[in-house]
Amino acid sequence: MRAMPRSKRHTETHADGRPLKITFGEMREMGLRGVLVYCHCGNHTALEADRWPDEVRLSDIEPLFVCRGCGSREADVRPDFETGKPPQFAASKQAP
Ligand SMILES: [Zn+2]
Repeated sequence: MRAMPRSKRHTETHADGRPLKITFGEMREMGLRGVLVYCHCGNHTALEADRWPDEVRLSDIEPLFVCRGCGSREADVRPDFETGKPPQFAASKQAP
């Protein structure tokens, strides 16, 4: 188990200099259920985030992806705010 300092606010980075992103647990707390994997060539794909545990950061999985368009390994993983919208914004039910 790693210690998780909660008071630190400055941007932490990986050993190779990439900024650390939020964890899947933090993302799910925001009500988001999916991620978008972007490539600099314009290719992107949407994935369900359920397969990754809470303590994994979005930046941790970036090296796992190889772009189908250009073969790049420099993916950018971001929370999918579109499909992760809270249900109250999707429903049109009116309160009595
Ligand atoms: Zn690409």
